[in-house]
Amino acid sequence: MRAEIIFLGCGGGRWATITQKKATGGFRIHTDELRLHVDPGPGAIVRLNELKISPWRTNALFISHCHPDHYTDGEVIVEAITQGMTKKRGIFLGSLSVVEGFGDYEHVISKYHQSKLEEVKILYPKDEVELYDTKIRATHTKHGDPFGIGFRLYTRYGDIGYTSDTEFISELIEDFDGVRILIANIVRKKNERIKGHLCSNDAIDLINSMNKKPELLIMTHMGIKMTNPQLEAEYISQNTGVDVIPARLGLKIELLNGKYRYQLLKQ
Ligand SMILES: [Zn+2]
Repeated sequence: MRAEIIFLGCGGGRWATITQKKATGGFRIHTDELRLHVDPGPGAIVRLNELKISPWRTNALFISHCHPDHYTDGEVIVEAITQGMTKKRGIFLGSLSVVEGFGDYEHVISKYHQSKLEEVKILYPKDEVELYDTKIRATHTKHGDPFGIGFRLYTRYGDIGYTSDTEFISELIEDFDGVRILIANIVRKKNERIKGHLCSNDAIDLINSMNKKPELLIMTHMGIKMTNPQLEAEYISQNTGVDVIPARLGLKIELLNGKYRYQLLKQ
């Protein structure tokens, strides 16, 4: 078999989300045993159906932080996991703010929905849990939600990193050093630094600080001002020596032994 990553959009931030000029459904990771949905923002369930990916077999949900472009379809995904709330099934992992709420942030999956999941876990940076045939480790962020987390997923086909929303902090270097695929939320293009997020230059600095660079960087969670993602991908690639692909709705990456391949799923 193989591990695969499928994108249900590439948009992030308020303007991309409200206009849906870029879809905001998050992404999926599938292995032999794992069917994980990550950050199901607005439209996740619609995009799954458009791409003919069955939501029913989903067995894990990860929500990184308490912003709506990451969580609004979360309860619908829980309903798919639990076969319409008829079976106790599946695993939900998230930050403290997402699972329990903190301050002005309310928990984003209702207690009713949480009660039908087999396992609900709050993760803090460096926490590790077994997840079917993989292991997941929470990573650091610096963002509006102080409890936000990304992850490093250890699979038989190499590690997959996800930065979630964060600005460039030194902890990210160790968190993602040596991952095979790095999924980075790059909201802005080069020379447009913005607090709490990565721009193209930050991604370059992050990759060039690693002992072992990733085989592939996937840009996602791009804001409305990211007008030419392909141009940015080339800029990051030229400055790091790493392959860079901008995510888009339906992008599927397959990790095979020693190589990866990608295609665009039909809607
Ligand atoms: Zn955010």
